[in-house]
Amino acid sequence: MDLSQNVKAVREKIAAAARAAGRNPEEISLCAATKVQSDDAIRAAIAAGIRVCGENRVQELTAHLEANAYVGAQVHFIGHLQTNKVKQVVGRVDLIHSVDSPKLLQAIHSQADRLGIVQDILLEVNVAREESKGGCLPEDLPALAELARNRSGVRLRGLMAIPPISTVSGSNRKYFSETRQFLVDIIGKMSDNKPCLSMGMSADFEDAILEGATLVRVGTALFGPRPSMGAAR
Ligand SMILES: *Cc1c(COP(=O)(O)O)cnc(C)c1O
Repeated sequence: MDLSQNVKAVREKIAAAARAAGRNPEEISLCAATKVQSDDAIRAAIAAGIRVCGENRVQELTAHLEANAYVGAQVHFIGHLQTNKVKQVVGRVDLIHSVDSPKLLQAIHSQADRLGIVQDILLEVNVAREESKGGCLPEDLPALAELARNRSGVRLRGLMAIPPISTVSGSNRKYFSETRQFLVDIIGKMSDNKPCLSMGMSADFEDAILEGATLVRVGTALFGPRPSMGAAR
């Protein structure tokens, strides 16, 4: 496994998908999903050109921050976040992707307020309405976006979605397209003129780009397969 070759290959695929969609490849950020990776693997990824790291466990985030593993990159929190852990995340990451309830939003706002900062967030939408998944239901998005607009401790930057694991090429395009439409629906509630649409993983990031993703979260295609303990969330 050659990390810098993988970074290059993924970037080339991102660029090709962007061109196929008539988009500028520079509109699309590559977020390396670093769960179960070591401090050194993260440093190597940054040395290979990665500029955004996405963590999904608070414990790993804390350990990597203490080890200064992310120097040179932004850090995003992309996993499910429990309300009782917001103190370990707010103000320590550039963007939280997984805000999916009024309670979590309020907890992030309160902690940001206490710190005197504004925390950038995305709302996560459970686009395929899967029982097992985080994310709010599509019909709850407008109210959650409105709440975000009224909380000074958070700045709503866009949406994130994790559709079902893609088995057949193209199988998730309808979910990506729906997610993009949800973003259009709430855009009036955002101050941002360049909203973030976080969708697409190793198996389907090209389809996500065809449907408007501005940030793709890629793990396996960069770092190779994870040990089976590294479940998706
Ligand atoms: C692990 C993970 C990814 C990346 O998954 P791969 O299939 O390894 O690319 C993306 N997003 C989230 C939220 C993840 O937990």
